Amino acid sequence: MPASSPQHAGPESEATAPGPSPAGEVKPRVRVAVAGIAGRMGREVGRAIHADPDCVLVGAVDVAPHAQGRDAGQLAGVGELGVPVCASLAEMWESAHPEVLVDFTIAPAAFVNAQAALERGVSPVIGTTGLTADQVETLRRLASERATGAFIAPNFSIGAVLMMVFARQAARYLPEVEIIELHHEKKVDAPSGTALRTAQLILETRGLRMAQRPSQEDVRLEGARGGDLEGIRIHSVRLPGYVAHQEVIFGGHAQTLTIRHDSTDRTSFMPGMLLAVKRVRSLSGLVVGLENLLDLE
Ligand code: NAD
Repeated sequence: MPASSPQHAGPESEATAPGPSPAGEVKPRVRVAVAGIAGRMGREVGRAIHADPDCVLVGAVDVAPHAQGRDAGQLAGVGELGVPVCASLAEMWESAHPEVLVDFTIAPAAFVNAQAALERGVSPVIGTTGLTADQVETLRRLASERATGAFIAPNFSIGAVLMMVFARQAARYLPEVEIIELHHEKKVDAPSGTALRTAQLILETRGLRMAQRPSQEDVRLEGARGGDLEGIRIHSVRLPGYVAHQEVIFGGHAQTLTIRHDSTDRTSFMPGMLLAVKRVRSLSGLVVGLENLLDLE
């Protein structure tokens, strides 16, 4: 679609110009800014926002030196959009007036960005993983104080969400479980946000029923048994060739159950991200987890 398309006008134009809804009513598009636009996920998000008739990309931020002075549409590979990549949020707020800030950066930046967004009444949609529980609670409090919707998803792909839901169900019957997550070699945080979230959901379900293990294991290589989250072992693999994958392995008497999910391309995260972008303004406060935006019954 050409840059001049009224469906995808940049921030200088009528960015909130109405897009037609299926019923023919006038429906304003969601004004979206992306933090981390030069990254692997950020570029994909830029493409997805541009391609969605209900959204318009109005702002972009990235600290990468190679991104400075570039156009966000060029970085995303969709042609020039008239949306400059800014080096800071402060600069971006001046040139764009987003309603939603999608963040795929690094955890310390995502926390600061989300606070700045909420202070302005802008709704953060955070895909960045690695936020601490304290940071999430701070954002929850701020979102509530500001009466502004906010959303965090450790994983935006529907298959991964189903994996977590099924794992939570299985844990009622098979409380002994270990998680193996496998990601590309450039992933910074370990274990993955998805693995931590899966473990937390399992812990909520299985309550005090713990895995039966020897009180002292003879571990001959540090880390061989993975990380330990309240009795759930999590193992992280980092290798080129992977995108984002996870196995949740339950053990029971004379049987195992393996639930496995594979994201083979970053486009797998886009439908969930777009759903969150369109719903976040109507949320009251902070919501964590894509499963909370889906009707899974
Ligand atoms: P990446 O390294 O390719 O991209 C990160 C980008 O953020 C870089 O361009 C970097 O310059 C930029 N950045 C860093 N600090 C910044 C700041 N202060 N302001 C603006 N930009 C800044 O990483 P990636 O592979 O795109 O992953 C990004 C994050 O998304 C990671 O935390 C990853 O775990 C997470 N992720 C989440 C999902 C999900 O579904 N929630 C899926 C994939 C990846």
